[in-house]
Amino acid sequence: MQPAARMQTITPYFFAELGAKIQEMRALGKDIIRLDMGSPDMPPASFIIEALRSSAALDSIHGYAPCGGTKDYREAIAAYYGRRFGVVLDPATEVVGLIGSKEGLFHLSMAFLEAGDVTLVPDPAYPTYATAGRFAGAEITTMPLLADNDFLPDLEAIPRETLRRTKLLWVNYPNNPTGACAPLAFFKSLVRLAREHRLLICHDTPYTEITYDGYQAPSLLEIPGAKEVVIEFNSLSKTYNMAGWRLGMACGNAEAVSILNTLKTNIDSGQFRAMQDAGITAIAGNQSWLENRNSVYQERRDIVLAMLSEIGLTAFKPLAAIYVWARVPPGGTSSRFANAMLEEIGVSVTPGSLYGAHGEGYFRISLGTPTSLVRTAMDRIAAWI
Ligand code: PMP
Repeated sequence: MQPAARMQTITPYFFAELGAKIQEMRALGKDIIRLDMGSPDMPPASFIIEALRSSAALDSIHGYAPCGGTKDYREAIAAYYGRRFGVVLDPATEVVGLIGSKEGLFHLSMAFLEAGDVTLVPDPAYPTYATAGRFAGAEITTMPLLADNDFLPDLEAIPRETLRRTKLLWVNYPNNPTGACAPLAFFKSLVRLAREHRLLICHDTPYTEITYDGYQAPSLLEIPGAKEVVIEFNSLSKTYNMAGWRLGMACGNAEAVSILNTLKTNIDSGQFRAMQDAGITAIAGNQSWLENRNSVYQERRDIVLAMLSEIGLTAFKPLAAIYVWARVPPGGTSSRFANAMLEEIGVSVTPGSLYGAHGEGYFRISLGTPTSLVRTAMDRIAAWI
């Protein structure tokens, strides 16, 4: 087999390989607790599952759905933006439905980037921004996210020459993996920078509705003028515990939305209509169950933080998202630390180095695991440390 040279820019996705390793360990009888992948363990509300069931039972529902989302799905998203952020979106031109947000993030890079272009990605960051940029042949320039700067990139530090060649600038708040949140002042600086240098800001924000201690996450599209320079990705995966359902969205600049949709019409043929109908029920229906769900995550966050503090490991208290970012004990790499933890006590965490060079020295604990298992895993970690 002779795959294209661009295949050499990618390797199998980390969690696919880790999942296979854990399956082998479990087959040998090992008891493994997974605190690695950010996959919600709780189900969506039952009325959402019921909406899928009743829509799937309709005879008229089984043909190809419109690529980029049904009119009703896009209208539900636009209404959510209006209600939640006071952002007015035209559902016909400023919203596109995605089959989960990951394909949208990847395809946007494929649609915009080529050799000679720069894509600016945070470090540490969700790996897809850089992977997709590399696959498209672009140059990846990283923006360090440092604890000293509250895990925000220093926009002033980006060289002018880099900005001249930059087409896309990626940000993600509430942030995976650090759990950091961005103040509106930072969002304003981003929009100013993008307007000055004619960049497209790609804001990936799948954790806006998983927040703690009363925090409310803003949308980057709230900033005046943002629609000229911003495309914002969101997803039902985490918000509604629907990661396997594959429903996402991209909203904002109409030209960017249209370019992404043109590529998508050549690649996918839309998400199953019944799934989109259930997505509409999730977005437009009763939201009160999310409060209870968030309090479950918050309890897990507090268990993790309390135990890490007790054993002397530094961790960063997140106000949102489903991760705790912590420093590995001195003297080892994050990947050696995570491997040893898995092999020796059967607890799987994600090494910070997966997210970039500035993730070295950290590990990430996901809160998407039942509370009793989070407790057991933390007890094992404490005894092991
Ligand atoms: N962006 C970030 C920051 C994520 O953490 C994830 C999932 N872990 C995604 C995008 C992808 O989400 P999905 O494709 O399920 O919408």
